[in-house]
Amino acid sequence: MDVDILIVGLGPAGATVLSKVAPLIESEFSILAIDHRPKPGFPVQCGEFMPSPDEMSALVPDVPNAREFFTFDNQFISTHTDHISFFSPKGKIIQTPFQGYSLYRGNWNSHLIEIGKKHGAEVWTSACVVSKKNGQVTIARNNAKKVHIKPQIIIGADGVNSRIAKWTGLSENRHPKHFVIVKQHLMVDIKSKLYDSSDVQMFFGENYAPGAYAWIIPKSDSSANVGTGIRLPMLKGDMNVSKALSNLINHHPIASQTLKNAHISQTIAGVVPVGPPYQKTVNMETKTLLVGDSACQVVSSVGGGIPPSMVAGAIAANTIDHHLRDNSPLSDYQVEWKQQMQKMFNRAYKLRQFFDAISTDRDSRIQWYMNRLSSSDINKVVHCAVPWKLSLVAPFMRFLNWIIK
Ligand SMILES: Cc1cc2nc3c(=O)[nH]c(=O)nc-3n(C[C@H](O)[C@H](O)[C@H](O)COP(=O)(O)OP(=O)(O)OC[C@H]3O[C@@H](n4cnc5c(N)ncnc54)[C@H](O)[C@@H]3O)c2cc1C
Repeated sequence: MDVDILIVGLGPAGATVLSKVAPLIESEFSILAIDHRPKPGFPVQCGEFMPSPDEMSALVPDVPNAREFFTFDNQFISTHTDHISFFSPKGKIIQTPFQGYSLYRGNWNSHLIEIGKKHGAEVWTSACVVSKKNGQVTIARNNAKKVHIKPQIIIGADGVNSRIAKWTGLSENRHPKHFVIVKQHLMVDIKSKLYDSSDVQMFFGENYAPGAYAWIIPKSDSSANVGTGIRLPMLKGDMNVSKALSNLINHHPIASQTLKNAHISQTIAGVVPVGPPYQKTVNMETKTLLVGDSACQVVSSVGGGIPPSMVAGAIAANTIDHHLRDNSPLSDYQVEWKQQMQKMFNRAYKLRQFFDAISTDRDSRIQWYMNRLSSSDINKVVHCAVPWKLSLVAPFMRFLNWIIK
């Protein structure tokens, strides 16, 4: 079977490409979009947090019409939030204004797929790419029937363990420090007066999130996504992600009180890539483009991958449209996403490196630095900028880390 465009993976990245490219090309070219889940987007493996359109336009000013681009229809917004609070290991709380919302991400994902179908794309669920040979991709449908596809262009949007990235030689060998292992509960029946549904909370410390952070992201007045992340090289003793999450919910002095008597309604786990994005995301020979987690297009300081997937997905769609119509180079995709997002990725990665220097080994260091940070410093951090205080001490950090026990 020949197709013009094969989209592999229908998470935020692949579903965005589909929803943007299908209306551009209508039925002039054929699209096949596949995902190995029976219902792509479900279960929702995500904290579902999105900065508001205003915050996004400040974060990525080079994205054209950013406010409009990042505006979600109300039906996909679960709840609005106004600020973010950072909790240090020893209980200092630093709160800063930051507008955002949590999404009904699964429903939004389905909506994007429906747009694609409405404009003539064929969508296969429970369909998994299993091999690729001589320009032919083999897809197993419903774990059994094998179908051979000859695509003109391939979009690799198959997430953090992307097969497409490996097959096309675009995947980079990455150190384990560039991945966060995460686990999250959707918690319901939250009744504590401590719970503030307008506040996104981030918790630091080796008991709760070694090498990363734990979070409470409000979903409603009485429910929240409660999760944590760990990085393997930063683990000590018998710590693991389940233990870290249990510590947060049962033993953290504040989080445990906030979540007292709440119930777990759903649990998910996953891996978030937090290294710099791949620089090579196009294989001109095989006409393959990587989009989203498959290209590590994630804001590495916080593990936010929805906004970059949306931006890269829209750019990929435009590039494919131009390529099919006037043979413009597919490498335009790479030039354009870098133009729109590279600065933000660089700032976020620099922050992550600061965090690594601060958090490696012991909590007392994170505490020492957080004691010196104010709300306006944290505001810089959530906008992917390094506060001047951190920049100032950067040259002496090794020495400081040596004396802070
Ligand atoms: C617990 C958790 C919390 C998070 N919280 C947030 C947050 O609050 N905000 C935020 O912005 N980001 C968050 N992220 C990151 C964000 O979810 C990802 O960056 C985003 O989902 C990336 O989208 P994607 O489409 O590239 O990949 P994915 O969402 O992983 O989608 C990949 C798709 O490809 C399919 N697939 C994989 N292999 C194959 C195959 N061989 N054949 C066919 N299909 C295949 C999968 O079924 C999947 O549907 C979080 C991630 C996790 C795990």
